[in-house]
Amino acid sequence: MAETKEIDFKKVATPHWAAFQPEHAFDDEKNEFLRKNLGGDKTIVYKRDAGKEDWKCMTCGSKIIVTRVAHTVRDGIFPLSGSGKVKNEDVPYCPKCEEKPAFHGQSIPPR
Ligand SMILES: [Zn+2]
Repeated sequence: MAETKEIDFKKVATPHWAAFQPEHAFDDEKNEFLRKNLGGDKTIVYKRDAGKEDWKCMTCGSKIIVTRVAHTVRDGIFPLSGSGKVKNEDVPYCPKCEEKPAFHGQSIPPR
């Protein structure tokens, strides 16, 4: 089989309310990639070198940082009511290329 340099991104299974909906890939050298859609045609790719902890922005080389986004759980009896429960999501972003994600994320509908 021929070696290919092309990276095959696969959609990560995330809940539809999640702020971070990445696509994920590994290359031949076991470097890891996460691609995030920034709306429209714009995407940003984070890279983690094989065996490393830190993710880096492939556009500017900045270290990716993680911020918390809170999702309110709408599990009350009436529509839009809720018990005040919150699910926190850790959302990575590039401090140079992206706006910091808003703290209040989408609310989570009842199951
Ligand atoms: Zn960046």
